[in-house]
Amino acid sequence: DKQMKQIEDKRAKGRVFKKDSSFLKAEENVFDVPTLKLLYSFANKGFINELGGSISTGKEANVFYAIGNEGEVAVKIYRINSSTFKSMDPYILKDPRFTHIRHSRKDIIFAWTQKEYQNLLRINKAGIRSPKPITFDRNVLIMEFMGENGVAYPSLKEIKMDDETARNFYDQIIENMRRMYVRASLVHADLSEYNILIDTEKEEVVIIDVGQAVTLNHPNAREFLTRDIENIKRFFKKFGIDEPTKEILERIKLK
Ligand code: ADP
Ligand code: MN
Repeated sequence: DKQMKQIEDKRAKGRVFKKDSSFLKAEENVFDVPTLKLLYSFANKGFINELGGSISTGKEANVFYAIGNEGEVAVKIYRINSSTFKSMDPYILKDPRFTHIRHSRKDIIFAWTQKEYQNLLRINKAGIRSPKPITFDRNVLIMEFMGENGVAYPSLKEIKMDDETARNFYDQIIENMRRMYVRASLVHADLSEYNILIDTEKEEVVIIDVGQAVTLNHPNAREFLTRDIENIKRFFKKFGIDEPTKEILERIKLK
């Protein structure tokens, strides 16, 4: 339509986004007119100067690389037309911070984006290495890019390591879970080798994807914590690590 054409014309002039970026080639439902307008408004404010390629296309969100006034950033865009938004319900409607929101798909997605921003703030404050949140609006979250020179850190799943290195990462993860629990009063609730990146140079774990993280007073917090622990245990088993769940729980709750 006309609005879209205007935005397209601006883009074609190369005012904001690189012409050859994979931005507009991605699934078109990410880039409905309101989302495009929002990206332009972020561009006008200097949060995005150059939008690079797609880092990831997930079930609910697309992540893009960009450069803004703050340096390298990751732009996470939740798709309004995502068909899996129903799966967000248990993580948001029962979180005491978000029980008041309207239950439409759009409102849940906007609240989810805000929740991820707030969780990132709390998690960073707790001394956990994770992307620093920069800004958010509606369905778009801009955060620190975890990587270097346009290359994102690999996930824990992707790297090759010996048992000793694995033990180091395992201990860092449990310590991060402890900080999240004790200092931030949060349970990640989707912790796995996919949502942990590795800064290979510093040999440091980075926790990502915290939109579903819930406060400790969420009715399912305990169940989510046990599930996170079981995921981590399953992954590290092949490196000879087999700590009883009870002992891990004690470590996580240690003040
Ligand atoms: P999803 O809900 O789709 O799993 P994630 O937040 O896990 O969303 O992001 C998907 C992928 O995008 C991650 O596995 C990671 O490779 C990349 N990614 C996400 N956030 C960042 C970031 N801040 N810096 C670098 N890469 C990121
Ligand atoms: Mn993820």
